[in-house]
Amino acid sequence: MKKIAILGSTGSIGTQTLDVVREHGDISVVAMAAGSNIALLEEQMREFLPSLVCVWDEKKAWELRQNTADLQTKIVSGMEGLLEIATMPESEILVTAIVGMLGIRPTVAAIKAGKTIALANKETLVTAGHIIMPLAAAHKVPILPVDSEHSAIFQSLQGAADNRLHRILLTASGGPFRGKKKEELKSIQVEDALKHPNWEMGRKITIDSSTMVNKGLEVMEAKWLFGVETDQIQVVVHPQSVIHSAVEYEDGAVIAQLGTPDMRLPIQYALYYPERRSLSGKRLDLFELGQLTFEKPDTDTFRGLALAYQAMERGGNIPTAFNAANEKAVSLFLERKIGYLEITDIIEACMEQASYIADPNIDEILETEQAAYEYILGRWSK
Ligand code: NDP
Repeated sequence: MKKIAILGSTGSIGTQTLDVVREHGDISVVAMAAGSNIALLEEQMREFLPSLVCVWDEKKAWELRQNTADLQTKIVSGMEGLLEIATMPESEILVTAIVGMLGIRPTVAAIKAGKTIALANKETLVTAGHIIMPLAAAHKVPILPVDSEHSAIFQSLQGAADNRLHRILLTASGGPFRGKKKEELKSIQVEDALKHPNWEMGRKITIDSSTMVNKGLEVMEAKWLFGVETDQIQVVVHPQSVIHSAVEYEDGAVIAQLGTPDMRLPIQYALYYPERRSLSGKRLDLFELGQLTFEKPDTDTFRGLALAYQAMERGGNIPTAFNAANEKAVSLFLERKIGYLEITDIIEACMEQASYIADPNIDEILETEQAAYEYILGRWSK
């Protein structure tokens, strides 16, 4: 039986990971972590009986200990708790499904402990890809992508032998505001931005998809995962979200992975790689679909994507400034403290004011994050 640990078990990716586990019944979930949703976490503990659980907030962890005193589960809290899960001897695969840069330290610890990483938490690679990828190579640890586009690229690379990929075609749905111009985005409210046309996801990534910052983060993630240069990654808007991404080889052949939009497939592929298992749910029907369409991204309106390319070109700790600014700006937007277009204004300002570090270590990455937060709180959150 495979043994996995899940960071973020109560979230969108976490719960769908558990759906995959339920569907097959031959994976044991030995540990889970969540932020504060202890009601759902308790249900999950009673169903999957993990030996270790982490709740970020110690007060909530205490409450959960009282509520589950009849179980044998050890309940820990905070970053120490996440690190304990990441390195626990029983687990073979760590599913990193928490949001944000919080994922960096547990991912590093898990790699050092020899765990396979099923990586959903793209912010880790965006900010620390230059540390994570060589570390994984040194420890011979596979990083298996969970993000649907990266899983599609990974699937399209199977059987490639020594043939080098010429470029990546990274598809994007275009989000709920595709086709709109900047003027029309001024009055966007939280509810509008939380309506994604094709995917059900957590709140932060749904906002990121609407601004196309998510696509920018994915371009950076692809650069690190597949070892390509920025100009080898072309973003293609494909509103039907059926082609999940493609690779073009040197002879011009393009290999893509297609399917209905269902995150359980890339999650399952990562958990069972290289095996393909049966999966319930709707199958792709090309006749029903009729046609697939493609557009160039509108980077004048959706500046988040253009800023991501700039961040990548500058490199060093600038992708961290980009990502940290976005994390804080999105949370301020969700709290209705800033307007929709201010999200990209904040990212741009933070990238401009960040002190450049060419090859940041983890402490410097976290300091860059902190500096961006302080700058934003001083300027936008009074
Ligand atoms: P959600 O917001 O749905 O879930 C986040 C999870 O992280 C929850 O379980 C949450 O717990 C937990 N969490 C939050 N803060 C902490 C903390 N301090 N300590 C421990 N756990 C914490 O996010 P998603 O599932 O949508 O996204 C997760 C990651 O996967 C992101 O990096 C995202 O970019 C990436 N991703 C998501 C996709 C999707 O379809 N959703 C697709 C591709 C990538 P609680 O419920 O208690 O708050």
